[in-house]
Amino acid sequence: MIRAISLALIVVVLLLPGVESAQMSGPPEPSQMTAETNPFFAVSTLPFQAPPFDKIQDSHYLPAIEEGMKQELAEIEAIANSAETATFDNTIVAMERSGALLNRVGKVFFALAQSNTNPTIQKIQTEVAPKLAVHRDAIVLNPKLFARVKSIHDQREKLGLDSDSRFLVERVYKQFVRGGAQLSDADKSALRELNQEQAKLTTEFRAKLLAANNAAAIVVDTREELVGLSDAEIAGAAQRAKDRGLEGKFVLTLQNTTRQPITTTMKNRALRLRIHKASAERGRGGENDTRPIATRLAQLRAQKAKLLGFPNHATFSLDDQMAETPARAEKLLTDLVAAATAKARGEAAKMQAIIDAEKGGFKLEAADWSYYAEKVRKADYDLDEAQVKPYFEMNRVLQDGAFFAANKMYGLTFKERTDLPVYHPDVRVFDVFDADGKPLALFYADYYSRPSKSGGAWMSTFVDQNGLTGTKPVVFNVCNFPKPAPGDPALLSYDHASTLFHEFGHALHGMFSAVKYPTISGTAVPRDFVEYPSQINEHWALEPTVLANYARHYKTNEPMPKELVEKIKKTTTFNQGFDTTEYLAAALLDMAWHSLPADAPPQDPDTFEPAALAKYGIAMAEVPPRYRTTFFSHIWGGGYAAGYYAYLWSEVLDHDTYYWFRENGGMTRKNGQRFRDMILSRGLTQPAAAMFKAFRGRDPEVEPLIIERGLKPATK
Ligand SMILES: [Zn+2]
Repeated sequence: MIRAISLALIVVVLLLPGVESAQMSGPPEPSQMTAETNPFFAVSTLPFQAPPFDKIQDSHYLPAIEEGMKQELAEIEAIANSAETATFDNTIVAMERSGALLNRVGKVFFALAQSNTNPTIQKIQTEVAPKLAVHRDAIVLNPKLFARVKSIHDQREKLGLDSDSRFLVERVYKQFVRGGAQLSDADKSALRELNQEQAKLTTEFRAKLLAANNAAAIVVDTREELVGLSDAEIAGAAQRAKDRGLEGKFVLTLQNTTRQPITTTMKNRALRLRIHKASAERGRGGENDTRPIATRLAQLRAQKAKLLGFPNHATFSLDDQMAETPARAEKLLTDLVAAATAKARGEAAKMQAIIDAEKGGFKLEAADWSYYAEKVRKADYDLDEAQVKPYFEMNRVLQDGAFFAANKMYGLTFKERTDLPVYHPDVRVFDVFDADGKPLALFYADYYSRPSKSGGAWMSTFVDQNGLTGTKPVVFNVCNFPKPAPGDPALLSYDHASTLFHEFGHALHGMFSAVKYPTISGTAVPRDFVEYPSQINEHWALEPTVLANYARHYKTNEPMPKELVEKIKKTTTFNQGFDTTEYLAAALLDMAWHSLPADAPPQDPDTFEPAALAKYGIAMAEVPPRYRTTFFSHIWGGGYAAGYYAYLWSEVLDHDTYYWFRENGGMTRKNGQRFRDMILSRGLTQPAAAMFKAFRGRDPEVEPLIIERGLKPATK
């Protein structure tokens, strides 16, 4: 089966320009490719079948992907055209075993396209995206294959299957139906065309957004204008200007959110306004205009949904999620709008008071928020990043923090190994041993930022846990922590330390997988469930026993002073009005775009977006959506269409589960084992809602999230 490779867990899918040069030098024709000339053509002989990065070259990807598609199609044809009566083994299991080469190369290719890209890889991506869409349709829309799947599905209760196998049959059948297997031939052709157009447009969106982002970078003429920025930030801006042939000037690049962190300490209001305008208007007008793509993608997805029998894309998408219906997802979001915006208005009032006290003579705007929020943070929370960082040395956060917590809860131990090839010198590899000392997984950690890496942080796998073939998981985490100068320690902010725990939570979900079939293994769970194991793991970063073990001064080894710990805990509710509101606005904007019916006229983002925000009562000029339509890469360039709500949905599960741990003795070995047995090891062998309910003893409740985000009205 072709699986959704790597997209599900990508937080930010924006690609940065590569730094390495292209090295496409006449690769041999696919037919001449052998394991001798192309390492993807054979199963890796390294431990855990780890990718042989020392042998992999960019010229290997395209031939391996093409040959991989060819082989998988041949395997699928053989299953579909078999003269034998369809059985679970000769159809469903045979499909689970198919596509090994494509899976092998795809895992590595899409991982590196995010974490270590270059122009060659980007070019291949553009070329293969529509081909992979065609390939997937060739499988899902194969009528003979579907007839076999359907016959097994229809008699699944009588086949004596174990519960995992029966659930797999249901999943596979549903994937076919959702892929259009039941459509007429005419509708199938229409769907194929829409799928190809969608693949082309999403790739195009990413490319245009990348260009728009670069074009929107701010050129500043004098150092004086940058007053408030740190020496390191100014030096970085000067270097970027030099790289662009603008020696003597300064270039500020944009992060792919509306809010720009660089403005946090920027005293120059005119520059803040300029940066905000450039940020908010990215992708509007010029040759990098993404508006027509968004308009067409929204329409195209509605048309697809209609073909498949759904009123809109959101209904189609949510039908396969834990939330089940857009109404349930929207209810979670809209229920929080009043509390979030009230809190944001309170935060704004506080900042306006500062502006007025300083005789600023202006009304707080979105461009000013980060700058004045930082003043509030300093005044009310008295927390200085510079004070915190010496206690969060990266290696300690990883080994004495995340690894330590995993040992406490699950009995895991870790040992770094240096004998395996890596794709970049910054990548580290660890053996992971289970509580009984047996090998469990390989873990790759790629933590430092570099120009060839996309922004954000994510987890995925090079090899999935697969009970059919006996492969154990090879899991990786990628983050964007600033790389220290040679010889200096990597000191993390609390946010970054927390991100490390978050991604490691995803990693545990991949490592603990203990299921038979790859389609339902590891993190192959609904999008609104997948952030649950990662978010719960963030809690352990602040757990007193864990914190005491890792948060020690990198020079003196002194534990973090109690007052500082308290300050960090207190700041977890800082600026939550803004954070929650900007998130809700983006999530509701996503829902609005994907609730359009197929017969709606094409929508102009310039009018659609404000109307949608007004409809949900979340239009606040000072708090724009975290992503505006024109640079919302999660939904137009990634896999989160009608799915951006998933982070908050998962967070409900997370806080509710955290309260369960608190009620039951905290992060004990016994509680960890229970979480592993009922959630982390189960992949998608049961509906997500059933797994949660079994663990928690009831359906999820939203109250813990409201308390933890500090959104609860004081009167209650
Ligand atoms: Zn995550």
